[in-house]
Amino acid sequence: MASIAFIGLGNMGLPMALNLIKAGHTVHGADLSAEQLSKLEAGGGKAAGSANAAVGEAEIVVTMLPSGREVGMLYLGENGFLSVAKPGTLFIDSSTIDVETARKVADAASAAGQLMVDAPVSGGVGGATAGTLTFMVGGPDNAFEAAKPFLDIMGKTIVHAGGAGNGQAAKICNNMLLGISMIGVCEAFVLAEKLGLDHQKLFDISSTASGQCWSLTTYCPVPGPVPTSPANNDYKAGFAAAMMLKDLKLAQGAASHVGASTPLGAAASQAYGLFVGAGQGGTDFSGIINFLRGED
Ligand code: NAD
Repeated sequence: MASIAFIGLGNMGLPMALNLIKAGHTVHGADLSAEQLSKLEAGGGKAAGSANAAVGEAEIVVTMLPSGREVGMLYLGENGFLSVAKPGTLFIDSSTIDVETARKVADAASAAGQLMVDAPVSGGVGGATAGTLTFMVGGPDNAFEAAKPFLDIMGKTIVHAGGAGNGQAAKICNNMLLGISMIGVCEAFVLAEKLGLDHQKLFDISSTASGQCWSLTTYCPVPGPVPTSPANNDYKAGFAAAMMLKDLKLAQGAASHVGASTPLGAAASQAYGLFVGAGQGGTDFSGIINFLRGED
């Protein structure tokens, strides 16, 4: 059984760490929140004196942090994780961060003789708790093979997307597509309402016609046609609009960095920016339909 340092025990990190403990691994956790550390201890983990102390003792380090800023700050530099870890330590960064920082940290890991993958997830807190996350993994083959048994404990679908940073690239490309398609489906329902076309009729037709997509058939933004979608539960997230905005901004940053033309991604980012700015950051991202109707 492995000795694992888990840094970042928030909404996602804590249940992921608990699944590693349930599988028999020893987990030393670190977080800024004493409350989260107590929850880890209650689940059989150990609270480390500091993040660096946990990393220095570990064979494997998993990080689940808010953004590239924290990842760069904690991994790099003289007292960063990559310097204090034993040579050959395996690093798995599951935070959603910008591709540029992911590649910079991966290069530094390789120069320091450490193994590293970027492995952002989709599946939310429900998937983290159930151990059914999807991991999109970037990094060399040997690092992927070493990480896979641990990712299998925390997730159900593990995809090797290519070299360093490609996990993050896959995540933001997918979520940019999702943000655009959700707005498209919402606009179709709002137009249908004005034209006197029933929600269920539009659903029945489009779900078997060329407008078919996940945002319509699995996550339908109006109540009724898909009873499990957040629209039936007052748009309780689900996947919060603030998280969608974060990913759309990362996609726009990456597009501008590499010179990719993404006009609809830019429009989606603006629309979610307005929605979140109107105080709806905690609402499910499909709730943007109310905003498009001109309601809060
Ligand atoms: P969160 O804010 O709940 O957790 C982040 C944790 O990191 C917090 O507990 C915080 O105290 C800790 N932290 C911050 N700086 C630290 C430091 N310097 N040292 C130690 N700990 C530190 O966020 P979350 O919802 O768990 O999301 C984590 C990552 O997963 C983000 O990158 C997010 O985009 C991504 N993600 C989240 C979801 C979701 O549904 N919540 C889904 C997919 C991906």
